[in-house]
Amino acid sequence: MKFEDYRISDEIKKSLSKLGFIKPTDIQYKAIPPILKGEDVLAIAQTGTGKTAAFAIPILDMLQFRKNRKREDGIKCVVMVPTRELALQITEVFEQIGRHTRVKTFCVFGGVEQGPQIAKLEDGIDILVATPGRLFDLVSQGYIQLHRVEVLVLDEADHMLDLGFIHDIRQLIAKLPRQRQTLFFSATINETIKDLAYSLVNKPVRIQISPKDPVSKNVDHSVMYIDMDDKRFFLERIVKEHLDQKILAFVRTQVRAERVVKAMERVGIQALSIHGGKEQKDRTDVMRKFKKGEVKLLIATDVSARGIDIPNVEYVVNYDLPEQPENYVHRVGRTGRGTEKGVAVSFCSPEEKSILDEIQTYLTKDIKVLEVDKEDYEATIDFSADAKYDWRALIKEAEESEGMARKKKKKKK
Ligand code: ADP
Ligand code: MG
Repeated sequence: MKFEDYRISDEIKKSLSKLGFIKPTDIQYKAIPPILKGEDVLAIAQTGTGKTAAFAIPILDMLQFRKNRKREDGIKCVVMVPTRELALQITEVFEQIGRHTRVKTFCVFGGVEQGPQIAKLEDGIDILVATPGRLFDLVSQGYIQLHRVEVLVLDEADHMLDLGFIHDIRQLIAKLPRQRQTLFFSATINETIKDLAYSLVNKPVRIQISPKDPVSKNVDHSVMYIDMDDKRFFLERIVKEHLDQKILAFVRTQVRAERVVKAMERVGIQALSIHGGKEQKDRTDVMRKFKKGEVKLLIATDVSARGIDIPNVEYVVNYDLPEQPENYVHRVGRTGRGTEKGVAVSFCSPEEKSILDEIQTYLTKDIKVLEVDKEDYEATIDFSADAKYDWRALIKEAEESEGMARKKKKKKK
């Protein structure tokens, strides 16, 4: 079935065709009809399978056509997401698909002044995409009323219902009308969170696609055993061997992100970083540059692990392994999106072996090992342009000339 054959408005069909969306993806095929019927939905589908449009299309359609609805009455739909970048991205998808409709979408998130956000809210909007913290603040201050909300979406639902967010989410849900439609979307979910999710929805339609292997089939992923101190040489090599490709590398901490950027700069590789310790203005700027491909290497913490859809990221590197096993799935899922193929490589140091084991238990399978033989390992370090390591070359040179001198002496004898 094609979108053309759907009972959705022509305005939406027009934008879908402009976006090149001809046929629904599996999750869209399964989720759109029950959402249009007003049912609650709990949907699990792999990374990059089009979950955003799976909720955006029916929501836009419903909001466009429900009668007796005035914008001044208040916000009709709230979409909650874990990060600011994801809020911007999802707003963009709503705007693109809803361009020819009268539905207005806006997003609020922390780290920027709230004044301009408040001014915009006063104009009246239909769909609000938000990170929980800022939404909570604006609701508490009375700038946002939630009593007209008809649809609530939690994207990256398992993460939203996890420890860091659950408190804000609960308080916000308490302010929503009981009579509403609730939609949860994610690529991963565990049993505890699933129970919690069920307690928040009403007779939901459950949709789960490819639950056996949570990693998208479009991602060719493997692991390399590398000592902690040698990781930068291997990243350098990957970058230099894939100069025209966009690479997203994940590290464990903000400090490490900055260190890796510096290490790359020392060997002539331009890299940007994104993490929670940066000003929002910088974060937005970095995303823009990386999206455009002005800079090909982005070093990120887990703030960018979820949901972010950047075109043409061919390569994901787990420079450090993620501490939460499900984040492995989300990180490698930043490549191989839609019909694209991608490659992901994880660097595992001896001290990270236990984390790797946990990830493999989570995936219920072993990750393919990329063997690096000793010679190749040494060659990667030698190949580095890092000036500090010139001593290796110097020693080699010294050894060679010493060897030659010895040979000459022997000859003389
Ligand atoms: P998910 O949330 O499942 O990880 P996204 O919603 O971010 O995935 O979508 C992944 C990519 O697939 C996006 O670049 C999006 O534009 C594209 N996409 C979504 N639906 C379709 C479709 N029906 N046809 C073609 N491309 C699509
Ligand atoms: Mg998504």
